[in-house]
Amino acid sequence: MDNNTKIIIGSGLCGPLLAIYLAQRNYRVKLYEKRQDLRVSNISAGRSINLALSHRGIQALQSAKIFDEIEPYLIPMKGRMIHQKNGDLEFQPYSIHSHEYINSVSRAELNKSLMNQAETSGLVEIFFNHSLLEINDNVNELIFSNGVRIPLNSYIFGADGSGSIVRNYIDRKVTSPSIIKPLGHSYKELHISPNKDGDYQLEPNALHIWPRGEFMLIALPNMDKSFTCTLFLPINGSISFNTLSTTKLVIDFFNEYFSASFNNIGSLFGLIGFIRGFTLGGCSVDFKTMNVELRINKSTFIKINESEYSIMILIWGNSYKR
Ligand SMILES: Cc1cc2nc3c(=O)[nH]c(=O)nc-3n(C[C@H](O)[C@H](O)[C@H](O)COP(=O)(O)OP(=O)(O)OC[C@H]3O[C@@H](n4cnc5c(N)ncnc54)[C@H](O)[C@@H]3O)c2cc1C
Repeated sequence: MDNNTKIIIGSGLCGPLLAIYLAQRNYRVKLYEKRQDLRVSNISAGRSINLALSHRGIQALQSAKIFDEIEPYLIPMKGRMIHQKNGDLEFQPYSIHSHEYINSVSRAELNKSLMNQAETSGLVEIFFNHSLLEINDNVNELIFSNGVRIPLNSYIFGADGSGSIVRNYIDRKVTSPSIIKPLGHSYKELHISPNKDGDYQLEPNALHIWPRGEFMLIALPNMDKSFTCTLFLPINGSISFNTLSTTKLVIDFFNEYFSASFNNIGSLFGLIGFIRGFTLGGCSVDFKTMNVELRINKSTFIKINESEYSIMILIWGNSYKR
């Protein structure tokens, strides 16, 4: 066993953060990522364009010594702006203290800074285009889809997200494997561009929510004065991704449930862009609830960050978390 080198699978948000922590303790780290390097190729940052960063996330970035770099990209969201069906607005502050709030941040900028900082340590090597295919006990190797094989002679950390190969492997070895239940919901990201004066079309310092029972729309501000909206919707059923199959049905749906807000925005152009985004391709990923009981096998395999939603509860309850 090589005790000085650790292997991490996945260079999303958690993999490079863990690599930084390990390098701070003088371990060498080999980080394997299935995608290309998003710092050099024009690919999406993954699960969402932007995300809400809370106090806990800021603490993690501070301990990784990259918060100063990320701070200029943060847009404070002081509370939820609830949009009722009739257009009424209700602002619900996250805290009674003005310095307590969550922040909207670009996932890509966060991911890039984490990888840069990990590499700056001189102890972390990131191998892109390395998709872990299999952990093979017979030959004692990690096998990647590009043909690369790595001997299993160090600790393996799975930071490979919700469809984790590492978790699947651990599940086959433990007596209480994970229980994964589909929620029946998925999501689609949509875009509200800046208005004709180049400014935000909604209040920027809020996380906007249009709660509509079985489905909801949220919007987080971006630095370029646009918003990224996420529509969470059932996959099947009377109002679902499967039934909203034509442009007319999508327009009727938005008119019925969100028109009051769009009248407030007063921008037909924005609405057309919004709907074009909706009809371009299907939904993104199926949400699941995971019940993960055991994460460690033979003390050499560890799957990190199982609160990664897939699970929607964090979004429903999105609040300021200390
Ligand atoms: C729509 C949506 C909105 C969200 N909004 C928020 C939010 O506002 N705030 C928040 O805190 N969280 C949010 N989350 C949750 C957040 O995205 C996750 O908690 C976070 O991305 C988990 O980080 P991770 O590194 O564990 O996994 P991921 O970010 O998913 O990264 C996994 C990495 O592993 C790589 N990988 C996967 N399989 C392999 C393989 N076989 N071999 C090699 N590499 C592999 C992937 O390419 C990826 O780079 C949101 C999630 C979704 C879906």
